[in-house]
Amino acid sequence: MKSIIHYTKPSITELEVAYATDAARNGWGEKCYEYIHKFEEKFKEFTGAKYAIATSSCTGALHMGLAAIGVGPGDEVILADTNWIASAAPITYLGATPVFVDVLPDSWCVDPDAVEKAITPRTKAIIAVHIYGNLCDLDKLLALGEKYGLPVIEDAAEAIGSYWHGNKHAGSMGKFGVFSFHGTKTLTTGEGGMFITSDPELYEQVLTLSNHGRARGQTKQFWPDAIGYKYKMSNIQAAIGCGQMERIGDLIARKRQIFAYYQAGLADLSGVSMNPEPLNTQNGYWMPSVVFGKETGITREKLQVAFKNENIDARVFFYPLSSLPMFIEKSTNTNAWDIPNRAINLPSYHDITIQELDRVIEVVKKS
Ligand SMILES: *Cc1c(COP(=O)(O)O)cnc(C)c1O
Repeated sequence: MKSIIHYTKPSITELEVAYATDAARNGWGEKCYEYIHKFEEKFKEFTGAKYAIATSSCTGALHMGLAAIGVGPGDEVILADTNWIASAAPITYLGATPVFVDVLPDSWCVDPDAVEKAITPRTKAIIAVHIYGNLCDLDKLLALGEKYGLPVIEDAAEAIGSYWHGNKHAGSMGKFGVFSFHGTKTLTTGEGGMFITSDPELYEQVLTLSNHGRARGQTKQFWPDAIGYKYKMSNIQAAIGCGQMERIGDLIARKRQIFAYYQAGLADLSGVSMNPEPLNTQNGYWMPSVVFGKETGITREKLQVAFKNENIDARVFFYPLSSLPMFIEKSTNTNAWDIPNRAINLPSYHDITIQELDRVIEVVKKS
């Protein structure tokens, strides 16, 4: 049996280990927030957002943000059908309904025209999820938000290193943005997330919510002013995050290198498309993916068997959320239902070798 090729795996160096060790040894008492604040500072600088709050997960960051903008029972929130459930679950936590719309065939991100058609008087927000690092059409979505008075939220969990119009980082353009530092993501703290915004009022609201409803200015001890949440990141996780932030340029560059290698290796294969990078944007390429054209007759099942036989952990493209048992609905989202049937995610961890990349390319080519 050939050695296994994992689909993702973190890159942890002596730097992260040293910071985590320091946090475990010294980061207590008055120093218990030191790495958290440093991590938030570095993240603000990197994304260009005015405010950042480190959280225990992206799901938690999204939950608090949606609560802060007032999403509640009876409301609808529009997002793409092609998604991981984490982008939709917080909507349901608040008693609101996720409305799943179709994706574009090339970016696999939400179709702005479908969003507009889905807007009703109950619509409270639009969530733009930058899937696999691919950017949503933010110009169109932000214009829709403007036209209908709806906040556009960016789920940039998979989009660190993705830039719109040259220098605008994913997550920094909407009402707020959220990120994930789960072990599979480009930057990891094991588990963790980040809430970013440039809106001072929203920041204060989420800060209060994140601390069990205790406002920053509240001088009375143990005095919450509202029911809040507990989605904080620990100082030890943030220490690892600080190490990762010092290496973020390298982490993203490697993702881009891996993508470029796959792209070059598969260039002469017809009927295959990969993550797009439209002019004047940069894709962080969290997850290089291949979608086979319908005419090729290649299916997810065939791909899964081919990769399994070579001991390569390639992952299936996200199933449409509208196909899951808790959401199941009749859907006219043809792209979201069709694309995953003929697509697969390719391994892309930092330390993957040329030989391993070549093994992956061989499997795709033989399919
Ligand atoms: C990973 C991911 C999340 C969830 O992140 P957690 O930190 O695990 O809560 C949310 N949205 C997207 C698009 C993701 O890829």
